Parts: sequence; C-alpha cells; structure tokens
Amino acid sequence: MPRPISASLNLSALQHNLNIVRGYAKTAKIWSVVKANAYGHGLARIWQGLAATDGFALLDLNEAVLLREQGWQGPILLLEGFFQPQDLKVLDHYRLTTAVHSDWQLEAIKTARLSTPLNIYLKLNSGMNRLGFPIGQVDAVWQWAKSLSNVAEVTLMSHFANADNHIGAQTQFSVIQQASEHLAATRCFANSAAILRNPETHYDWVRPGIILYGASPSGDTADIAGIGLRPVMNLNSEIIAVQSLSSGHSVGYGSRYTASGAQRIGVVACGYADGYPRLAPSGTPIRVDGLLTHTVGAISMDMLTVDLTACPHAQIGSKVEIWGENLPIDNVAKAAGTVGYELMCALASRVPVTLYP
Ligand SMILES: *Cc1c(COP(=O)(O)O)cnc(C)c1O
Repeated sequence: MPRPISASLNLSALQHNLNIVRGYAKTAKIWSVVKANAYGHGLARIWQGLAATDGFALLDLNEAVLLREQGWQGPILLLEGFFQPQDLKVLDHYRLTTAVHSDWQLEAIKTARLSTPLNIYLKLNSGMNRLGFPIGQVDAVWQWAKSLSNVAEVTLMSHFANADNHIGAQTQFSVIQQASEHLAATRCFANSAAILRNPETHYDWVRPGIILYGASPSGDTADIAGIGLRPVMNLNSEIIAVQSLSSGHSVGYGSRYTASGAQRIGVVACGYADGYPRLAPSGTPIRVDGLLTHTVGAISMDMLTVDLTACPHAQIGSKVEIWGENLPIDNVAKAAGTVGYELMCALASRVPVTLYP
C-alpha cells in the first residue's frame, strides 16, 4: 500500500469556475493564468479542464512549449515577457504572445529575424513598481511598438497591486485610464480580484488565476462567499497512529504542544515535505472523519498531529481532509500566515494525484 496521502483534482470544478468568470466578465476574453505549473495543480494534467478558455497565460517558456506540444492551438501569453533575445526564436516558432516591459525587449524584437510579426502586450507600470514602462512613457512606447515591422497587435497591460484589499484598484486604474484613454488599443488589466470587484477594468481581456482554482484572491473566504466557486484541489490523508496523552505530556519536535488533561492525538500522514506549511501553528483547521478539528504541535517533514477530542470515533485509518471541498484552503492558509496561492504551488511532487473529470 502506498502512503495514504493523495491529492484529487476536479476538472469539472475548473470548467465550472471558468464559467463563473465568464459570467462576471461577459464581454471580455479570458487568459486563464496557469503559471507555476497551473498554481501547483500540474499544467499537463489540468489544462484540458480549461480548454474553453480564450488563451493561457504563464511565464515559463518550457510550460508554453509543453502546452503547444500537448495540442493547444490558441493564444499563449508570456506574462513576464522573454528573458533574453535568443528566446525570440522560441516565441516565433511556437507563436507565443509576449509581455514587453523594458526597452531592451523592443530593441531585440526590432532586430530579430522572425517568420511572422509578434503580438505583444506592452506592460505599463501604473503604481505597482515591479515590471513595466513608466506610465509617462506610454505614448512614446506605443508609437515605437507600432512602428516595428516585427510587431503585429499591440495590447496595453497593467497589473493591480491592491485589487484584493481595502486599498482597491481604483487609484492605479485612474492612472492607466488617464494616460492611455486617447489610444485606440485593446486593454488587459484585471486579475481575479478585479474581475470580481472592478467591472470597469475588464475591457478586452481579463487574467483570472486563483479564482479558477476555487480560492480567494484576498485569502478571506467571505470575499468569495455566494459566488459559487468550487475548489479544484482536495488534499486527503489518513490517521496512521493514535496517541493517548495525559496531562503534562507533549507531542512532536520541540514539545511545542502539551496536553492539559487526558487527550487523544491522531498522527496524520502529511508533513511539510508534502507541501503542508511548516509554520502552521497549533489550532490550524483540519477535518478528521468528516469533523472539524485542528493541528497540535510542530509540523514534521512527513507527519502532523491533530487533536481528536472532537472526533471520538477516529482511529487508525480514519479519513483526513487537509483542504478541499469541506475545508477551504484559504482557512488553512490564513491560520498558517500565508495565502491559498502558496499552499497550492507548494503541493509536493511526491504526493500522488488523481484526476476526476
Ligand atoms: C499571477 C498573475 C495574474 C493572476 O492573478 P490572480 O490573483 O491569481 O488572479 C494576473 N496577471 C499577472 C500579470 C499575473 O502575474
């Protein structure tokens, strides 16, 4: 028997979530964001669940090539652009659309030998100060891009730093608006949070990531309550041992949890080498036998320990839901001081995965 931990991925949930995005952004086309190996779900495994998308956005050239080789014929967008001039050969060969955020990239495109002109996304820095041309240069860069015979379509792109929190996308959006409203360009601005919260930013293309996988952009499940998103990833394991502690006895490395009375503890086959956050404190939610309980003590490499007080019938072999259908990944992430994005991306390759159509 293999170790009992396994992840199951629901392709119908992906399709369902994509439809929900369509409902929010009715007139826009959709770049389904599948960077980081489809947020840890496995690009090769799951992209067909999103085959109804208009395009795929990612940032690793190898992942773009993989999509092409697996038969995706539609648009592919490189969100960080290309990393060196030689990459343009690959972009040309595989018909990839690329973000362009720096002068050197336009220079490289200008002098490249391409079989067909490239579609490019001019990335504008509207306040996040990570990638992008200064917003004041938008006219000059636009003219430059339009003048290049190696460039076909030019789309304006920007990314919001605060669409998911109380600051909001509005300030950045006004900056882009004012700088570019006179340009007859297609536009692509909205990430998941802006898709849900800022319809005025949708324009021609939207770029959902996290909501396709059924989690919250803010990390707060209240923000996606009532939308009907379904989690794609379920991580499950089993109790592999039960310990009966008496008062004063501790559990795990560093004796970080000490029982204050008689207490049953379940040992779960899941640890940080499976992708569980090592810094999750005692009290992080987990479900045993269908009942909500919490972790106690330190997370080990291959095991974690849980309080069985609320699950009196739990025993060796009892089913454990680490996150998924009945326990939002956002709630586990929040307890561990992180976000669902990080937990998904961290799913370890040693965890066996089952696909459900
Ligand atoms: C990751 C990413 C997205 C998707 O973000 P979500 O919050 O997951 O929707 C969109 N645009 C860019 C440029 C990104 O890097």
